[in-house]
Amino acid sequence: MNPTLEIFSQGEEIVTGQTVDTNAAWLSQQAINLGFTVTRHTAVGDKLDDLVALLREIAGRADCCICTGGLGPTLDDLTTEAVAQAFALPLVFDATAFAQIQQFFSHRNRPMPESNRKQAMLPQGALRLDNEWGTAPGFAVQQGRCWLVFLPGVPSEMRPIFLDKILPELPQRFSLYPSQLITIKTFGIGESDIQQRMNGCDIPASVQLGFRASLNDVQTKLLFPHAYPEPARTALVADVARLLDDYVYALEGQHEESTDLPGVVNQLMDQGKHTLAIIETASQGLLASLCIGVDWLLESRYEQSLERLTQKMSIVMDAENLSDSDVAKQLALELQKHNQSEFALVQVYTGGRDALADKNQAVTVYSVLLADKTFHDSAHTVAGSIKRKQNQAALLALDLLRRFLQFGQYSKLST
Ligand code: ATP
Ligand code: MG
Repeated sequence: MNPTLEIFSQGEEIVTGQTVDTNAAWLSQQAINLGFTVTRHTAVGDKLDDLVALLREIAGRADCCICTGGLGPTLDDLTTEAVAQAFALPLVFDATAFAQIQQFFSHRNRPMPESNRKQAMLPQGALRLDNEWGTAPGFAVQQGRCWLVFLPGVPSEMRPIFLDKILPELPQRFSLYPSQLITIKTFGIGESDIQQRMNGCDIPASVQLGFRASLNDVQTKLLFPHAYPEPARTALVADVARLLDDYVYALEGQHEESTDLPGVVNQLMDQGKHTLAIIETASQGLLASLCIGVDWLLESRYEQSLERLTQKMSIVMDAENLSDSDVAKQLALELQKHNQSEFALVQVYTGGRDALADKNQAVTVYSVLLADKTFHDSAHTVAGSIKRKQNQAALLALDLLRRFLQFGQYSKLST
C-alpha cells in the first residue's frame, strides 16, 4: 500500500477563488510520481480555529501532509500559530532563520520591517527548511504517524524548497514504490480515432489507460505499476506509438520536463540551427507569439487580407485564377527570397473574414511550408469561435513544420 498524502492550501484568496490553487496541482503530481496516494486537497481561509482543527484531523489520518501558504509576516498569515496550537508546540525564536531573513533584506538594501521577525518563530522541535528564494523559511514536524511539511505560498519559493529540501527526505521517511506514467502526446487526431487505433494492441489489465483531450493536443496516458518489467513496458509504449504514427509529437516518461507542440518545434529548430519566416492570416498573430523568445524566427507578418499583402510585397499575382494554396506557395517563395530564411511558412484560409468571425461557419486553412526547394502543405477545416479557429490555425501551421522536422515530410492526408 502506498503511503497517503494530503495537500492543504492556506489563504482566504484560495478559498474565495482569487488565486487559483496551482500549488496543490503541482504538489499532487510530484507526490503521485514519487509513489504516494494523494487522498485529499483542502483549502482553508484565514481562520485560526479551522486551521487548528484541520491540522489535527490530517495528522490523525494521513502519513504525510504538505501545506502551502500563510507563513508570511502579516496578521493573516496564521499557519505557524495554528501548528503551535494544534500540537501544543510552543513557538521558539530560531536565530539562524532570523539571520537569513535579515540577510535577505540587507542584500536588497532594504531595512527589515519589525513584522518579519515573526517569521523566525518556529514550533519547538521543527525541522527548519531554509528559504534561499524568499524570506519565510518553511518547516516540518512529525506528529504521530504523520509528517507535516509547511512551505511558503509563493510558487517560485515553494517549488524550489520542495525540490531541494523535501524531495531528498521522502525516500528516507517512506517506503515509496512509484508507478511509471508514460504520456504520448498527439496532435491532429481525436480521442475516438486513437481508441480505434489502439484496438490493435493488447493493454494488460495492470496498466491503466487514460486520455486527456484539450484544444492543443490529445494525451494518451499509460500508468505502469512499479513491478512492471521494463522491457515489456518499453515494448508496449513502442507498440502504441507505432499505432499513433506521426500524430505523435512527444513521448514523455515520468521525469522529463513536460513539453507542448511549440516547445517541441523550438527544440527541433534550435537543434538543426534552422531559420524561418512566417506569414499568418487566420491565426492572427498567435503563430508568432507561440514562437516567443526564439532566435530562429527571422520575420513574421500578420495580414487580414491577402490582397493587401501581395500589394505590400509588390507581388504581381493573378489571385483570381490561382487556388489558395497556389497563392500561399507564391507568397512563400517571395518571403524566403526577402528574408534569406531557410524555411518559409505561409498560412491562408478560404471563406473570408466574416466566416472566420462567425462561430457557425467553418473555414479551410491552408498551410504551406517551403523547405529544401520543396513545398509541403496541409489543408484542414476548422470550426467554432474565432478564438478556436485562431488557435487551431496556429497549431496546424506549427504541426506542419514539426512533421517536416521530425519526418522530413508531411505524410498524412489532409482532413
Ligand atoms: P508571503 O511571505 O509572501 O506572505 P506566505 O507563505 O504567507 O508568503 P501567502 O501569503 O499565503 O504565502 O501567499 C502569498 C502569495 O503566493 C499569494 O498572494 C499568491 O499569489 C501565492 N499563492 C499562495 N498560495 C497559493 C496556491 N495555493 N497556489 C498558487 N499560488 C499561491
Ligand atoms: Mg502571506
